[in-house]
Amino acid sequence: MEISLRNQVAVVTGGSSGIGSGIAKSLASAGATVIVNHSSERSRDEAQAVLKEITDAGGKGITYQCDVSKEDQVVKMFEDTVSQFGTVDILINNAGIQKDSKFTEMTLDQWNAVIGVNLTGQFLCAREAIKEFLRRGIDPSRSVACGKIIHISSVHEIIPWAGHANYASSKGAIRMLMQTLAQEYGANKIRVNSICPGAIQTPINKDAWSTPEALNSLLHLIPYDRIGQPEDIGNLAAFLASDLADYITGTSIFVDGGMTTFESFSTGG
Ligand code: NAD
Repeated sequence: MEISLRNQVAVVTGGSSGIGSGIAKSLASAGATVIVNHSSERSRDEAQAVLKEITDAGGKGITYQCDVSKEDQVVKMFEDTVSQFGTVDILINNAGIQKDSKFTEMTLDQWNAVIGVNLTGQFLCAREAIKEFLRRGIDPSRSVACGKIIHISSVHEIIPWAGHANYASSKGAIRMLMQTLAQEYGANKIRVNSICPGAIQTPINKDAWSTPEALNSLLHLIPYDRIGQPEDIGNLAAFLASDLADYITGTSIFVDGGMTTFESFSTGG
């Protein structure tokens, strides 16, 4: 059995770092041409380093700067991708941020920033991707599906998280966005799913793994007793985007080393 994304074009938002970079590399190694999105000038070098790893391994792609919370920039990213590569087959809605605060001290700016990237950004990219999928229609030389969207959610789509109300709210909402799109466009053969990572070793959660004490306390939440790596998510993303997963739509898949089994109940609660 081979996971093949040959002849397909994938947009990976936030592909310059962490989980997004892992997914970009996995999709490229399965044959997709990957648009490695990055948000600003500051992340250009990181995006180029990811692209270099892809091309050094024989893969194809480009980097593309776009702030996914800005409608005009998202529309342009999809227009430019279609004009350069003909279409888009796969969207990985990965870009995400945290702006943590005790709830009563959370500013409207902190709330809006997180909802703007984590939820509105996923809405805007999904809308532009689905418009393009419908324009192209099914092309069996690419995939049996008309298009695939993978939202990167979180275990916090079901685990409440004190001090992170904006983040947990954005991830809870992604579940309904994903299921609604899967329902609305199922008959068009567009598949929409979410991957819900547990603790993956990336810059977003550096405080949770960068000292032995922090890592030890994190591992108490993970029955499988290791922190996840970006390729743990990339492997699933490549499979989910491929035709091997053609009957999977409208679902959230947790990649969390068992975190959602609630480890603290392992000794009887
Ligand atoms: P990260 O900080 O390494 O990556 C986040 C990426 O999003 C970066 O490439 C960043 O440049 C990009 N980004 C931020 N704002 C953007 C914007 N406005 N437009 C475009 N790109 C933007 O962190 P990560 O852990 O790789 O996070 C990736 C996704 O995974 C996020 O949605 C995050 O919520 C989710 N997630 C991460 C973990 C984890 O443990 N690391 C767990 C659950 C969910």
